[in-house]
Amino acid sequence: MEQEQKRDIRKLSLAELEVFFLSIGEKKFRAKQVYDWLWNKRLKNFAEMTNLSKATRERIEQHFVINHIRVDQMKRSVDGTIKNAVKLYDGKIVESVLIPTPKRITACVSSQVGCSLDCNFCATARLKRMRNLHPDEIFDQVAAIMEEAKVYFDRPLTNIVFMGMGEPLLNYANLLEAIEKITSPEGLGISPKRITVSTVGVCKMIRKLADDEVKFNLAVSLHSAINETRSRLMPINDSNPLEDLADALRYWYRKTKRKVTYEYVVWKGINDDEAHALALAKFCQIIPSKVNLIQYNPIDDGEFQQADPDKLDLYVQVLERFDIVAKVRKSRGQDIDAACGQLANKNDLVTLG
Ligand code: SAH
Repeated sequence: MEQEQKRDIRKLSLAELEVFFLSIGEKKFRAKQVYDWLWNKRLKNFAEMTNLSKATRERIEQHFVINHIRVDQMKRSVDGTIKNAVKLYDGKIVESVLIPTPKRITACVSSQVGCSLDCNFCATARLKRMRNLHPDEIFDQVAAIMEEAKVYFDRPLTNIVFMGMGEPLLNYANLLEAIEKITSPEGLGISPKRITVSTVGVCKMIRKLADDEVKFNLAVSLHSAINETRSRLMPINDSNPLEDLADALRYWYRKTKRKVTYEYVVWKGINDDEAHALALAKFCQIIPSKVNLIQYNPIDDGEFQQADPDKLDLYVQVLERFDIVAKVRKSRGQDIDAACGQLANKNDLVTLG
């Protein structure tokens, strides 16, 4: 059978694997063994599945492949941050980042190859969306960083943020399936409380998250609480304006009782005045929330510049006045283009087929 016709074995649930083994005249428990090799031990080929006979392994191989990712290139920043260029089975590349701090090791992972959202300040947007990542491709990025944390820092991975390339909520089913595997004891056993999914603010999907009663955290890339400015920065705001976003967030909070984090970049001459700071403070009243003020990372584009430090102070003061917790997030891994919005900045991903 041709390679193309074989199926990705990690697309099958345990129940589906059981059906497969029964269909080839094997015992049902083989499915559990294989599932464990795939998700818990994370084997990359069938030959290593030593509790199966050679004949059984060959039968599996006639039908399936393991579409494992490969870390194609790893770059280390002077601040310890590691960026992985991850090659997928079809040759496409996404990036994921390991961010070490004294207390945490965070994996920042991608959910799509490229992105469809056209945020004007983001490098990934220039790639356009090529395809959604499969659940196992998302899972593998986390597993790879977990291993790097052990090897390079001798510490466990503590947190996962879906703040790499792509819009996680536009790859909803695969995202949830990946998180299911990442959190399950047969997978990586990481608590959903340590996972944050970041969205540009797709209202319909925020409501869906609430309906699905997910247990992970939600972050929204806000960047402005004034429609006119936000639409200029992020075209998604035209179809998902702030009023709708506010409604979706109220719905989220009603169902989950979890607060939300707003990611917010302050740019010179765009949103660095008091009116914008006050609008943000007001937006933060909608549901319990906190704000991460993110440093802008230049992407070779003169249009956007980091605001002056005193403007960030202004934001912090205004937010404090309203009792809103705000943290200024220093950028990490800038020297290797691993910082927010820099993924896919200086490589030739665009040309990859
Ligand atoms: N699509 C999702 C996930 C990507 S998260 C989302 O938008 O939330 C990446 C974060 O980095 C987002 O908050 C994004 O707005 C921010 N970002 C993009 N480009 C940036 C840049 N050049 N400097 C700083 N932050 C940037």
